[in-house]
Amino acid sequence: MQQNPCEICGPILRVAIAAPLTEVFDYLPPRRPDESGPAASGEAASKLMPGQRVLVPFGKGQRVGILIELAATSDQDFARLKPIGRLLDPHPVLGPDELTLIRWAADYYRQPIGEALFSALPARLRRPNPLKLDCVAGVSATLAGRALDLQELRRAPKQRDLLAAVRAAPQGLAIADLSARFGGAAAAVRNLCARGLLETTRLIPGGCRPERVAAGATPGPELNADQAAAVREVKRALGVFRPFLLEGVTGSGKTEVYIRLIEAVTASGKQTLLIVPEIALTPQLRERLVGRLPDPPVVLHSALGGAERERAWHTAAAGRATVVLGTRSAVFVPMPRLGLVLVDEEHDPSLKQQEGFRYSARDLAVRRAQLIGCPVVLGSATPSLETLSNAQTGRYGWLRLPQRAGSACAPTISLLDIRDQPLQAGLSGVLREEMRAEIAVGNQVLLFLNRRGYAPVLTCHTCGWVGSCPHCDARLTLHLGYRRLCCHHCGWFQPLPGRCPDCRGPDLRMLGRGTERLDEELRLLFPGVAIARVDRDTTRRRGELARLLDAARCGEVQILLGTQMLAKGHHFPRVTLVGILDLDQALYASDFRAPERAAQMIIQVTGRAGRAERPGRVVLQTRHPEHPLLQSLLREGYSGFARAALAERRAAELPPFSHLALLRAEAPSAETPMEFLGRARELAQGLGEAQVQLLGPVPAPMERRAGRHRAQLLVQSSQRPCLQRFLARWSQALPSLRRSKGLRWSLDVDPQDLY
Ligand code: ADP
Ligand code: ZN
Ligand code: ZN
Repeated sequence: MQQNPCEICGPILRVAIAAPLTEVFDYLPPRRPDESGPAASGEAASKLMPGQRVLVPFGKGQRVGILIELAATSDQDFARLKPIGRLLDPHPVLGPDELTLIRWAADYYRQPIGEALFSALPARLRRPNPLKLDCVAGVSATLAGRALDLQELRRAPKQRDLLAAVRAAPQGLAIADLSARFGGAAAAVRNLCARGLLETTRLIPGGCRPERVAAGATPGPELNADQAAAVREVKRALGVFRPFLLEGVTGSGKTEVYIRLIEAVTASGKQTLLIVPEIALTPQLRERLVGRLPDPPVVLHSALGGAERERAWHTAAAGRATVVLGTRSAVFVPMPRLGLVLVDEEHDPSLKQQEGFRYSARDLAVRRAQLIGCPVVLGSATPSLETLSNAQTGRYGWLRLPQRAGSACAPTISLLDIRDQPLQAGLSGVLREEMRAEIAVGNQVLLFLNRRGYAPVLTCHTCGWVGSCPHCDARLTLHLGYRRLCCHHCGWFQPLPGRCPDCRGPDLRMLGRGTERLDEELRLLFPGVAIARVDRDTTRRRGELARLLDAARCGEVQILLGTQMLAKGHHFPRVTLVGILDLDQALYASDFRAPERAAQMIIQVTGRAGRAERPGRVVLQTRHPEHPLLQSLLREGYSGFARAALAERRAAELPPFSHLALLRAEAPSAETPMEFLGRARELAQGLGEAQVQLLGPVPAPMERRAGRHRAQLLVQSSQRPCLQRFLARWSQALPSLRRSKGLRWSLDVDPQDLY
């Protein structure tokens, strides 16, 4: 009989390496530092926990890895297993729940486990740096300690005062600080711990700023009936998995609902995870939470400095954060006491990671809630068709806030047919007059033009030359301020030519209009009026976006113009008129999601107007006023549009009525990706999965980008399990397909964009 190897040598350590590898590797526990003999079992191994980072011998060198499992046996040749080099940190960087989530995600999205794990972690942890965390000893109040009537400690005033101080700092207080403030603190702490009123913790210095609102937070408004019902429903589900769609028009008080739920979850001693699609949305939301919650949220996103990000990560992991507010990757942050997951603007495509480890933070948020057994709320004024359909079929609870909160009323939308109309600065006479009228009485106007730069095309009037990118199938955008022609797809640029590069003619003309040009023209049309432009070019400098938004909010600005940066989540209470200048392109785009995106964009921009007591109006300029999308939006709002769009998706068997995966390939030459995808198709056909359809390969809509030719093969199935089974086999075989030099490929499960 074969001897069980673990009896001799201790457990097998299953390690995922920080590299795009699908395999995991088996190791033995580390050698004791004092011996060169066999690997240590017993004591050394007992300190090992899944989620810890380890340094392991790999190939010729050493690699950082994460211990994902302690196993009893190994499939690999036992004699050739090596011991790990060493443990990098004393504590796991990922908890058991997060490990399960990431392993599930790697499997579902067919991504290498090492890649998935390490893209979830702060970047610095990919390198063998030890954690830079000098934890200090601290205490925090237990639930009993927080609930206690302080009167009961009146005969032990030192303990009473100390407990009161600790209660005022939900993240805990350092024992050293307490000793400095209270004589005899050590004994009082011991007593309070013994009575179960305090517990000792490790504190991360700087991770817990004492930014509390002194005497309790400011109370919020009284909830209206719809809000109260939504809060009640979710509260009832606390402690079990239940997904909800919170569908509420902009300004209907969704954030208020989040705040009440966070309060309830915090009171029960649990943590809340709040995910938003954009970094730009975090400061405003954070400020609102700080004003209302006793404990400031821990903010986590990619624009934080490395050390800051790591500290936030560990504050959450230590259970010291009551709320984590973050973008996509925050979905992986360890939170040992997680009790509620919230995803705001759940329809936003930015919640999908588009490169490297491709995942949907929204879908993983739902999965995470399911794994740990807590409710998850997906909020939006314009829910994605996927989520809406889940609500319609009853898989998700459906909470609706149809009215604006407080006294604000919903803006009215009207279409403005601009065919055959004289335009100035792209604005029809009617819109210009309405703008003047609003500005005259001190109101604000918002103009939405989703194209940055001065003009999208530069052409030669003599010979017809058009500025185009040498590396992409794309026109170059003229940026007058930078005096450059820029490619918005690959970043290539050239100095602005003074003459035609082909015929040397002097008559170069700019066609079309971006925000830079609109800005310039508005200043001529509305002299003396304060104008602010918000797009990627005007907000490059750190802090500039916040400054522009502040100026707009406090009324320093009369005309606010910008791209989709303005459409997302910001409140401009003084805006009474919104002009949407040019969305016609989106009406006829090739991507099947384009109409959904256009409708969401229109409703989101619309939501910026007329908050508070000023009613708002929205004017949509178009050359296609009879377009069915615009008509359904106008007549029945987003829900009417969504009903029509879902019917179309069902008829065309598109998501959510089928499931997709996209295999993309690119290479310097045009044939290479098509050949590779042809082979991938043959491979797929050989797998004989009848319920799976293959569409393509075809060249991508923009075939050449950044000097590389791109093509794609779409996989579709009406049955999710069939697709998953197929992808598991196919993705395993893909790496062994013959590949020409320079070819890159990637698999995207549930793709958001088909390019
Ligand atoms: P949303 O997140 O849906 O856009 P908010 O929660 O930001 O909506 O609410 C919009 C505005 O209405 C905010 O200024 C908020 O303070 C206010 N508000 C929310 N709920 C109420 C309420 N029940 N009564 C009065 N005002 C409210
Ligand atoms: Zn020319
Ligand atoms: Zn380019």
